[in-house]
Amino acid sequence: MEFKGQVVMVTGGARGIGKAIAEQFAKKGADLAIADISLDVAGETARELASNGVKTLAVQLDVSKSDGVARAFEDVIKEFGRLDVLINNAGITKDGLLLRMKEEDWDAVININLKGVFLCSKEAVRLMVKQKTGRIINISSVVAFMGNPGQANYSASKAGIIGITKTIAREYASRGVTVNAVAPGFIATAMTDALAENVRQEMLKSIPAGKFGSVDDVAAAVVFLASPAAGYITGQVIHVNGGMYM
Ligand code: NAP
Repeated sequence: MEFKGQVVMVTGGARGIGKAIAEQFAKKGADLAIADISLDVAGETARELASNGVKTLAVQLDVSKSDGVARAFEDVIKEFGRLDVLINNAGITKDGLLLRMKEEDWDAVININLKGVFLCSKEAVRLMVKQKTGRIINISSVVAFMGNPGQANYSASKAGIIGITKTIAREYASRGVTVNAVAPGFIATAMTDALAENVRQEMLKSIPAGKFGSVDDVAAAVVFLASPAAGYITGQVIHVNGGMYM
């Protein structure tokens, strides 16, 4: 019950990696705000996780819209009175080779994946500075470091997350707020299930561990960064990729 009495908010927490992160925190006693674009799916996840004996709240949130972001954080504070950990996990892909990539696909991915981190972190830091403590953990990707054909928008958004992570870490370290990133490699989720089988097999060849990662592999690194053991770690990136990038 390492996180008993703490409040953790996970964006995109209704399914995939976000849900696994929320679940690991729930098992360790944290109360949870599951913030996702679909309130219905967030509600299902919140109900499921409440069976761990913790308080849960489903919040409708589009991370790319500042008004909605502000409202979602107000809802969390109204319910729990504090926010100890924010996981900026919500993310999308809209792949295509550069010459075929539509401007709207560039904008959508940057707005959700990168601007979303800016908007949510701003709300969280405001609260955490007042509390004099807080943890923010941003979900980047291995492609921020390696690039990936077809993902100019996505890799740029995930590389941008590394920049904002280090900057906010420097700005608020003295106020008790740590900010770190986790960069997953190829993790088996709905996002990666959507890839063609030949692409999946090619990816597998590039992973020294010889297997795809699981959502729990990512969640374990996130939980560590939120734990007391990581109190002096800030502005860092933990790579969870089976050796795909080192
Ligand atoms: P996922 O299964 O697609 O889950 C993402 C969640 O975010 C979904 O519940 C989705 O809702 C929600 N979402 C989408 N747009 C949103 C918005 N504007 N505001 C709030 N929530 C929104 O993806 P995942 O594979 O778990 O990925 C989670 C994070 O890990 C992402 O940031 C992704 O880039 C990163 N990542 C994943 C991998 C991988 O291999 N899977 C690797 C590296 C990094 P809907 O489903 O209703 O759209």
